[in-house]
Amino acid sequence: MPLYEFRCENSHLHELMLSMSAADRHAACPECGSDATRLISSPALGHLRTARADLIGETEASAHAPAVVDRVPGARPDRPARITHDPRHARLPRP
Ligand SMILES: [Zn+2]
Repeated sequence: MPLYEFRCENSHLHELMLSMSAADRHAACPECGSDATRLISSPALGHLRTARADLIGETEASAHAPAVVDRVPGARPDRPARITHDPRHARLPRP
């Protein structure tokens, strides 16, 4: 269950752990009893390890020490890959 933070009219902060379906925008302050409004804050996702986070980390690391490749991965080094099978393209001038 997510943890929601509320602030009342008297600036008291308190947290409530509520299910997403039960979460309301208002709650009673446990200190003074006045109406408290739910605060919007960023979720704590920094500790999660996801494929996206891994990709971002690898991208940042490659900015400082890029990996050098000398050919397209999977391509045969002795012969360039054929792009077309049309025989008319074989007669076109080559660079
Ligand atoms: Zn209060």
